[in-house]
Amino acid sequence: MAELWFNPASLHFQTIHVRGKTDWISFELADADGVSGAGEITSTQLDRDVAPVVARLANKLRGERLTSDEDVLHLNRLTPADLEENVLLASAISGLRCAVADALAKRAGLPLHAYIRRLHGHSGDAPAAVRLYANINRSMLPDDRGPMDRSPESFRKMAERAMADGFTTAKCAPFDECRAPFPQIGLPHAAAPGLDRVRAAKDAAGPNRTLYVDCHSRFDLNSAFDIGEELKVAGAGWYEEPVDPIGDTDAMRQIHARSPLPNAGAEKGYGVAVFKRLIEDDVLDIVMPDVKFCGGPVEAYRIGIELEPGHPGSVSMHCPSGPLSLLASAHATTAFGNVLPLEHAVYEVEWRREVMEPFEEIRDGEFLIPDGPGLGARVDPVMVETHGRRWEE
Ligand SMILES: [Mg+2]
Repeated sequence: MAELWFNPASLHFQTIHVRGKTDWISFELADADGVSGAGEITSTQLDRDVAPVVARLANKLRGERLTSDEDVLHLNRLTPADLEENVLLASAISGLRCAVADALAKRAGLPLHAYIRRLHGHSGDAPAAVRLYANINRSMLPDDRGPMDRSPESFRKMAERAMADGFTTAKCAPFDECRAPFPQIGLPHAAAPGLDRVRAAKDAAGPNRTLYVDCHSRFDLNSAFDIGEELKVAGAGWYEEPVDPIGDTDAMRQIHARSPLPNAGAEKGYGVAVFKRLIEDDVLDIVMPDVKFCGGPVEAYRIGIELEPGHPGSVSMHCPSGPLSLLASAHATTAFGNVLPLEHAVYEVEWRREVMEPFEEIRDGEFLIPDGPGLGARVDPVMVETHGRRWEE
């Protein structure tokens, strides 16, 4: 494996307009022999353009023989500590590491998950089917015509649709009206509509299926304890990010110490060390590395392999993005033998599965990994032409 190398010579970007403020942005690095690797840099969680940063970092790779995805860091003289502090840079590096790992796996003639496992000395194949949970939230964000219905009834219908499609776990982010600090101590009045949405979605899921609740760091120490109690009564399965576990670690640790539900979070963390600290210092029960921020699929695998043996069910990959990210995440998560499901943002756009070539296959709540080398699928240039644009750097 060590003698495999990839010499990136060209770079192009592509964007696909999904709906409202969402565009799926990705890029491809290619060498002179036509071997290529891809990474997604959709920036809906950043509101900053990652493409110029990718272009700048990729310049340092041209003409070099890359033998590992980590060469992206070394050649740019960056350390994991630099990336822990800078989410924009972490996103660009994660995309590039994904693209290089994809290209090297193609060189090895192996699916990415098998390449990652061989690289780390694991024998045996990982399952090619990965259990997903349905994040229904993005399907109710504004589309090109304007705001969508975010009533409890609308949450109920989306949760019902996910269950009818075979998912056994859904997730919502219901607290639109909340933003700490609040005028009162304890349960904020502004949380009432969000709790109604949770109850409606949980009612649709029923007692035997699970509803995770994401709070998008909208609470604080004064409100988070009561929100946790209310979510427990409403039957939620986990309590995600009442505060930002990376930016506000002390508050999150205190909330976690008294939380009646498992706490999940840390979607913008980079590197094994950050996630390990959050679990070992009792800040969270479940860390959520995102392939777009955490360092890409190889690093996501390392996070899983580091934490899962000692803390089973402590890693659930975060993925509110496009089909390229979901594909890379599925490779990483199956490679480390995930216990918890992988996130999938459902029902954002009806033609989603056709974005990839071959098509994205999701059946009965499971993602089916294509069996070709590398990621095993690419963003279809015809879909880029129809729904977006392509540009060179
Ligand atoms: Mg989240």
